[in-house]
Amino acid sequence: MDVKVILVDLDNTTLDFNGEKAKRHHPEHCPFPQGEPGFYRELPALPGAVEAIALLDADPRYEVHFCTAPSVDIRNVRCWSEKMESIVATFGEKFYYRTTITFDKSRVIGDYLVDDLPVGRGQEKFGGELLVFGSETFKDWQAVLDHFGIDADLGLAA
Ligand SMILES: [Mg+2]
Repeated sequence: MDVKVILVDLDNTTLDFNGEKAKRHHPEHCPFPQGEPGFYRELPALPGAVEAIALLDADPRYEVHFCTAPSVDIRNVRCWSEKMESIVATFGEKFYYRTTITFDKSRVIGDYLVDDLPVGRGQEKFGGELLVFGSETFKDWQAVLDHFGIDADLGLAA
């Protein structure tokens, strides 16, 4: 069978970057929380993301890979390694070998890209099908699973 590769973004698609940034932000003590050591490593998963990734990857029709852009801010250079640590801790060691960190996602080969941003990091020139996570069509991981024909209920509140 022709296995389809699903590329999945991290920040605000599988990990709660915005939520954690808002939680840690303080105008005086922590004006740039994403530059603090541990920020990327400790990002919590978004609802249903861990289960959805496992279900998709367990399906013989699909193989999940991560495709994430690093911060453009050089103060965040450690995000490269922390993103890898986070992927291993949250989704499992096998994804260490299935991750691409790039400023230009159009250079990565895959059949699908699940990403909260439709433009900005090469998403607009991606060679496969782009699923915009958080859009009306793909508002959560349940909608993504439904699109890929995975029969599972993540129990996400409407
Ligand atoms: Mg994102």
